Amino acid sequence: MSAGEGQREGYATYLAEPGPRAFGTPASALAFGAHPDDIEFGAGATLARWAASGADIRLAIFTDGRRGTWDPEVDPLELALARSREAEASAKVIGATSPPTLLGETDGELATSTGLVMRVVALIRGVRPEAVITHDPWKRYRIHPDHRIAGEVVVDALSKARDCTFWPELGPAWRPAALLLFEAEEVDLLQPMDGFVAVKARALAEHRSQYRSSYGIASDVEPVAHLVARLLAASPSQKGEAPSEGFKLVTDL
Ligand SMILES: [Zn+2]
Repeated sequence: MSAGEGQREGYATYLAEPGPRAFGTPASALAFGAHPDDIEFGAGATLARWAASGADIRLAIFTDGRRGTWDPEVDPLELALARSREAEASAKVIGATSPPTLLGETDGELATSTGLVMRVVALIRGVRPEAVITHDPWKRYRIHPDHRIAGEVVVDALSKARDCTFWPELGPAWRPAALLLFEAEEVDLLQPMDGFVAVKARALAEHRSQYRSSYGIASDVEPVAHLVARLLAASPSQKGEAPSEGFKLVTDL
């Protein structure tokens, strides 16, 4: 097979295409993350830009993040409490309309259940977002179960939220216009971070309990500058394009 033929994956596939898919600012967005910092990693700049443009931005976090440490001496419940406060501070930096909804599942033990899908359906029907953002549940060879399952639960909930025959007691049916998946198996939407890479870094820097385990930040390093450099290095579009966040865009909802 010669160069340019056959299946190429992820960003390479996207960048081979002659121009990005367009996606404007929605009136409202609801983003779901498995852990307290996942939304910021996946979509922090995009959400901050939308918020600055006047969009109603809501966040929901599935697990309490109690296992987000390498230190066996840390009390898991104290860590979970710290992480909920960090998530709240980070949501303010992004410009979210309200503090994040904490679904309170145990970090590392997220599992699909009808009850959890119902809670997500209730959120979607309550917020009525134009866009929903979450982890790509179809990303191959992913080891961490929480990210995969968070994506699965949101996708399942979308299919129920739009259908009035499911649980009418949870509110009138609602069908978002778009689903944006971060950590995507196939990226087909690049959202330039523009001036919002520093906002994304400041949001991530609110997650102080994660400096060492998630970000590799040593105590003597300025966290925002470190995170900006890390985000720019990890951008899918370093080869001549603006630093961006990459998504799979699903509009057939
Ligand atoms: Zn995570």
